[in-house]
Amino acid sequence: MSETFLGMPVTAPRGVGHLRGDEPFPKAARTALANPQLRRNLGHATTTIRAKSGRVIAELPDWPELRAAGSAIKADVMARLPALLEQLEERVTEAGGVVHWAADAIEANAIVTDLVKATGHDRVIKVKSMATQEIGLNEALEAAGIEPVETDLAELIVQLGHDKPSHILVPAIHRNRSEIREIFLREMPGVDPDLTDHPPVLAAAARRYLRETFLRTKVAVSGANFAIAETGTLAVVESEGNGRMCLTLPETLITVMGVEKVLPSWRDLEVFLQLLPRSSTGERMNPYTSMWTGVTPGDGPQNVHLVLLDNGRSAVLADQVGRQALHCIRCSACMNVCPVYERTGGHAYGSVYPGPIGAVLSPQLTGVEDNASLPYASSLCGACFDACPVKIDIPSILVHLRAEHVAAHRRPTPESITMAAAAYTMDHPRLYAAAQHAAKASRLAGRRGRGLPPPLNGWSASRDLPDPPQQTFRDWWAQRNREASK
Ligand code: SF4
Repeated sequence: MSETFLGMPVTAPRGVGHLRGDEPFPKAARTALANPQLRRNLGHATTTIRAKSGRVIAELPDWPELRAAGSAIKADVMARLPALLEQLEERVTEAGGVVHWAADAIEANAIVTDLVKATGHDRVIKVKSMATQEIGLNEALEAAGIEPVETDLAELIVQLGHDKPSHILVPAIHRNRSEIREIFLREMPGVDPDLTDHPPVLAAAARRYLRETFLRTKVAVSGANFAIAETGTLAVVESEGNGRMCLTLPETLITVMGVEKVLPSWRDLEVFLQLLPRSSTGERMNPYTSMWTGVTPGDGPQNVHLVLLDNGRSAVLADQVGRQALHCIRCSACMNVCPVYERTGGHAYGSVYPGPIGAVLSPQLTGVEDNASLPYASSLCGACFDACPVKIDIPSILVHLRAEHVAAHRRPTPESITMAAAAYTMDHPRLYAAAQHAAKASRLAGRRGRGLPPPLNGWSASRDLPDPPQQTFRDWWAQRNREASK
């Protein structure tokens, strides 16, 4: 990649929204680990989703081929992203939509806020969208006097609780039903004061409130799971039907989409519509898959806007190892199998993208220094790689980001000086042979149980210095050759 991408600078974005936490992961994780209720909620939820997903994946004999296809399509998209985005813009425009380009969160928020203001309305309904959470759109709208109403049930719980989502797919995974009842009683307009914590009763209360809001609101904001470059079609997949209401009832529809979500053709969509539901909710197909192409006169929103969001993505694309993170389809399977996530929950990551994908995506979107602790929030067990439906090699990206961080902070230490000296010695055969003989002859030789002298004693504090062998490999090799030639 060059230093610009579609005219936008390849630099860390301004106004990164919710990509950065207030405190580093180790500190936040300690707080989370002290909450037994949170661990119970998380353990129950992730185990349930894992089991359900595992069952439906096992039904497909061609699952490995589907994963390979998903991975190949995404790699192809990244290789020709600028051209695909330009094609998408052309098709959306031809179909009556308006395309806007946003370099970062500040620009995207300003575009959406101005579009809403231009309608003369002061409330928007929202379909669950990671991109709008990433840029902090709700806060920007509120600051402009516009009320955003989340319509996904879990997002609504988070919004009414003045809370933050802790999981990509199940944002209120850290809440149990009695906490949800309390939130509804405290915050939901017109709620029945005799509300119980029986799940169908809670769902009915949310439905009543949301139905009324759908019918009264003329502007909607959504994200997009996919966009088809060849036709200009946008797609949202969801489970509750709230998305379908938001995408069809209002007069104005504004979609904020990360640039990496584009797909070349309809055929490609077929692959992802199989991979996504089985990996995310453990369903065979999404209950609601909504697609729209620009404006259809007399049917659905008559003002359709698409905001294409960079916010650091072009910088990620420029990194040959890290760019895989842009393949993510936000299924959350990596979270549900991660032993670290299962114990700390999403808030500890401090970023809108938690879990293994957050640990590789957020530091790249903001620049590693702004989320420096996240690449270390992993045991590198590899469960995320195995679970990912598009085969993102998260462990390799974690190691790559750790190396970048270490390189940026390199200071000479006793260990680094010793390693540099060892590397130099091993690179020079005569010196290496001399060092071997010196080690054999030294007073340390043959004294198992002894430590190294300072400043190297830290290394040997919990290790024995092994005895040097009586004969080095080189000596043995020379002897062997001498004997063979006799
Ligand atoms: S990294 Fe893979 S497993 Fe994790 S959310 Fe993205 S697509 Fe799903």
